[in-house]
Amino acid sequence: MATGTSSLSSLPATAEDEILMLYGSDSGWVEPKSYCDHLDSLSSDLIHIPTPDTPCNRCQHPVENWLCLCCKEVLCSRFVNKHMIEHYKLTDHSLVLSFSDLSVWCFSCNAYLDAQVIRPLQSVHFTAYVLKFNEPPPLRAVDGVQITDNRAGRSSSGN
Ligand SMILES: [Zn+2]
Ligand SMILES: [Zn+2]
Ligand SMILES: [Zn+2]
Repeated sequence: MATGTSSLSSLPATAEDEILMLYGSDSGWVEPKSYCDHLDSLSSDLIHIPTPDTPCNRCQHPVENWLCLCCKEVLCSRFVNKHMIEHYKLTDHSLVLSFSDLSVWCFSCNAYLDAQVIRPLQSVHFTAYVLKFNEPPPLRAVDGVQITDNRAGRSSSGN
């Protein structure tokens, strides 16, 4: 083999690709909402949540389930046995968190919610992220908010 490096990207990114990434093609991508009228139904204890590898409560489907943020039940997606949608229809619990990508969906709004912007969702998103990746989520710059990397480690400097 003469090549020293293997190219990871086979196709050069074009402006058109970037536009597709930003706005989606026909995938129906929409901006997550930064507000939601249904946050009152959130569980009062979202510090203790099931781990992301929890199987569906009904059919034991092992991965990529959803967590109900109202009662913390773990149920499978519409691509499996639709148990979370059934749960919503039975209980009117509209807020769910995806264990596959940690996005938050509101069935009543029929929209994704920005869990890093909506304050009542921030902690559960953080907790789920740590459970899934064993590290805190990367800091995201928000307009008007100054984020300082506050890494006060053990500075044992002899004064
Ligand atoms: Zn299921
Ligand atoms: Zn529920
Ligand atoms: Zn909503």
